[in-house]
Amino acid sequence: MKTIGLIGGMSWESSIEYYRIINETTRARLGGLHSAKSVMYTVDFAEIETLQHQNRWADAAQILIAAAQSLDRAGADFLVLCTNTMHKLAPDIEANVSIPLLHIADATAQKIQAAGLKTIGLLGTRFTMEQDFYKGRLVERFGLNVLVPGAEARAVVHEVIYDELCLGITRLESKVRYVQIIEQLIEAGAEGIISGCTEIELLLQQADCPVPLFATTQIHAEAAVEYALAN
Ligand code: GLU
Repeated sequence: MKTIGLIGGMSWESSIEYYRIINETTRARLGGLHSAKSVMYTVDFAEIETLQHQNRWADAAQILIAAAQSLDRAGADFLVLCTNTMHKLAPDIEANVSIPLLHIADATAQKIQAAGLKTIGLLGTRFTMEQDFYKGRLVERFGLNVLVPGAEARAVVHEVIYDELCLGITRLESKVRYVQIIEQLIEAGAEGIISGCTEIELLLQQADCPVPLFATTQIHAEAAVEYALAN
C-alpha cells in the first residue's frame, strides 16, 4: 500500500471528509482493521484565502510547495491536494517535488467519461468557474463541454463557499439557491453537474440534483485509495 500525502486545510471542513472517505474506502476494499497509510499537512486557510483574493498566487504557491515537500520528506508516495481551486497551482507543486500529484479534475473527468456524459455544469469558487486551469483541462484532455452559471449565480455560489461552507455552516436557503442554479445549467444543456468545490457536497447530495452529480471530494478520495492500492 502506498502512503497518501494529503495537502489539507482548504478548508478543514472538507479535509476531514477526505480522511473519512479514504479510510472507509480502504476498509471496504481490504476488510478487517485495514486503514489507509497517510500523512496530512494542514495549512492555515485564512492565509490562503487572503492570498487568493489579493491575486497573490505566487505566494500561495510557496506555501503549497513547502507543504508538498514536507509530505515528501514524511514518506508520502504521492500527493492529494484537497481542494479544486488550488489545483490552479498544481503545475507549481509538480515542478518542485519528485512524487506525483493525483489531479482532482482528472479523477472527476474519468468518472464523467465512464458515465458517458459530454456536457457538464461546473459549480465551484469563482476561480474554478472563471479561470482556465480546471475547465480548460476538462475540455482539452477529456473533450468535455463545460457550462458555468451566469455572473450573478457565480457570485452566489462563490460567497456560499467562503461565507458558509468553509465555516461549517449549511443553510437550507443556500441549498435551494444552488438547486435553482443547477436547474438553469440543466436547461442550458448540462447532462451532469460537477460539485467542483470540496465543501459543496456538505450542502448538496445526489438526491438534490436531477442529473448525475459528480462530487469531487468523494471521487478524489476514492481515486486516492485506488492509486494507493494499485501495484
Ligand atoms: N475547497 C474549495 C475548493 O475545492 C475552496 C477552498 C479553496 O479555495 O481552496 O475549491
